[in-house]
Amino acid sequence: MNGDLGLTSARTRTRMVERLRAQGISDEGVLSAMLDVPRHLFVEEGLASRAYDDTPLPLGFQQTISQPWVVARMIELLRSGPRQLGKTLEIGAGCGYQAAVLARLAPEVYAIERIAGLLARAKVNLRPLKAYNIRLKHGDGNLGLPEAAPFDTIIVAAAASRIPPALLQQLAPGGRLVAPIGGPGEQVLSVVDRNERGLSETRYDWVRFVPLLSGTE
Ligand code: SAH
Repeated sequence: MNGDLGLTSARTRTRMVERLRAQGISDEGVLSAMLDVPRHLFVEEGLASRAYDDTPLPLGFQQTISQPWVVARMIELLRSGPRQLGKTLEIGAGCGYQAAVLARLAPEVYAIERIAGLLARAKVNLRPLKAYNIRLKHGDGNLGLPEAAPFDTIIVAAAASRIPPALLQQLAPGGRLVAPIGGPGEQVLSVVDRNERGLSETRYDWVRFVPLLSGTE
């Protein structure tokens, strides 16, 4: 018998979603997207049995896939803004998991990753999902993606002490950005809205992210 079968099934995903609900995630759209996306396909084979635990997991290249609660919470915060997700930009595509969840909820997803080797892996991971509304880009997310801007929503999956100004510039009127802000160690999830009066910021939960770095490799 294949020992992984039971651990990577839809039932395991249902349990993950029930746990997210118990942890306070209430956006049914987010919960149903996370029920659909097979998270075990995004982690290394040896870790598949832990893919649905509420824990970050190593991705190689000294990076980690965010824990399910963090993915859920950030997308829930984005969706509780004045608009739908619309055209969405993700900084830090990693293994592509969060992009896959976003692609169930947004018409267009652009995901930037600075490590070419990880981006190649994300491409392979996403192929079986046939998520044709995701565009993966190799680049430095600090610069955003001027050729596709403006974005209705922007999600930053790596920590910085301040939000890169290019990302704020590329946020559409009525748009919303979510990013972990702070130094190494702990950061706070910060939500920035662009409205008629300019930019406004609200802070939410404490989180732990790998740092937002500069340049590409
Ligand atoms: N969202 C990912 C996990 C993010 S981990 C997932 O679902 O798997 C953070 C990622 O941000 C890492 O892959 C890291 O390489 C990337 N990153 C860090 N700085 C970056 C930058 N300036 N531009 C693009 N990606 C960056």
